[in-house]
Amino acid sequence: MFNHIVCRYNEIATKSGNRAMFERRLIDNMRAACSDLDTKLRFNRIRGRIVIYRDENNEFTQEEKIAITQRLERCFGLDSFSFCLEGERSMEAVEEMIRKTVPAMFAPFLEKNGVVHFRTRARRADKRFPGTSKDIEIAAATIVENIMGEGKVKVNLDHPDVSIGIEIRENNSILYYDSIPAPGGLPVGSNAPMLALLSGGIDSPVACQMAMKRGCHVDFLTFHSYPYTPRGTVEKVQRLADIINLYQTPRGILYACNISEIQKLIRDNCDPRYRTVLYRRIMMRLASKLCTDKKRYAIVTGESIGQVASQTVENMSVIEKASDYLIVRPLCGFDKNETIRRAEAMGTFETSIEPMPDSCTVFAPDSPVLRAKLHTVEYEESKIPDLENAIQQAYDTMEIY
Ligand code: ATP
Ligand code: MG
Repeated sequence: MFNHIVCRYNEIATKSGNRAMFERRLIDNMRAACSDLDTKLRFNRIRGRIVIYRDENNEFTQEEKIAITQRLERCFGLDSFSFCLEGERSMEAVEEMIRKTVPAMFAPFLEKNGVVHFRTRARRADKRFPGTSKDIEIAAATIVENIMGEGKVKVNLDHPDVSIGIEIRENNSILYYDSIPAPGGLPVGSNAPMLALLSGGIDSPVACQMAMKRGCHVDFLTFHSYPYTPRGTVEKVQRLADIINLYQTPRGILYACNISEIQKLIRDNCDPRYRTVLYRRIMMRLASKLCTDKKRYAIVTGESIGQVASQTVENMSVIEKASDYLIVRPLCGFDKNETIRRAEAMGTFETSIEPMPDSCTVFAPDSPVLRAKLHTVEYEESKIPDLENAIQQAYDTMEIY
């Protein structure tokens, strides 16, 4: 029944000067997300909306609807979308579209309940069209009642089984039923790219998603301690990166860096209570090097205040001083349950909870320092012989996936 898709955006609409850039970026991303489908799609920008046409204006099949929905649901910047019919700019055309679709759309509810609760929602994008939106809604509801017959349908504004949307535009009118929610935010690529510190845990994949939601493409850096952590540690992070990459094109690159040699130096030379903070500072230094080389403008982490010993405000301050880059911590104000809900919705949760040793726990002390002081940490660091060389060595042997 439906031969095109109306896509709505929200935050982009508030951009004045560079709105066209955001719209083009969103279209590029939607096109890329659907590029693996056989269906050829055309994308048009039409005053405040993006419209997707199927080639030759044929109707979408059910399989195509499902496949396209799956892809558009992951496009940041998009607020919602609807599969629609298109007609001329007249009430006659609207009536025709209602006639064509209402019986089939109402049938399941009629069968189940004997009556269908429905509402009509109209929007006059073209204000020259006669009557108010309310007038159009009432006229459309009357058409529905006439088609379906008295007693079979009932207007219900608050809890309808079926909602019929009508838009009157400059050159045409459209009719749709479902408005499918999309993630909102800004299109990936509309802001500067970042480097995410990706562990195998629950938090960092969610942090990546939130950076992408603000328009930042992310590459990933994971640290491992092979042979003190198994190969599976990196393999698990790889699977997480695959899921996160469903939300951005081009795919983010995964870099894997072995820090076991540096960890041994820390174990052998420093106060054990400082190990975790020292590891984290090394991670920041390696991440900063990669940012400089690959032109990434910030480091994203899954840290949340007070969650574990390394995440006290004091320790986080000392850790971030190891880098000159902006450190972005999107989960800072979340409690664990909020993060878990997002991980479940994104599809990373199941993978994240698979048990696997993390690099941070290698030689981890029984009682780590909770409120590290910068000068003490710098003193501990100064006890490590040839640290710069060890960092460079780890950096140079980094693997790319
Ligand atoms: P996560 O669930 O993301 O692992 P967490 O609550 O376990 O987070 P930490 O392990 O202290 O907390 O890590 C905090 C953040 O530091 C992580 O979210 C991640 O961004 C980064 N990080 C920790 N370990 C690693 C690692 N091995 N490789 C890359 N980044 C890491
Ligand atoms: Mg962790």
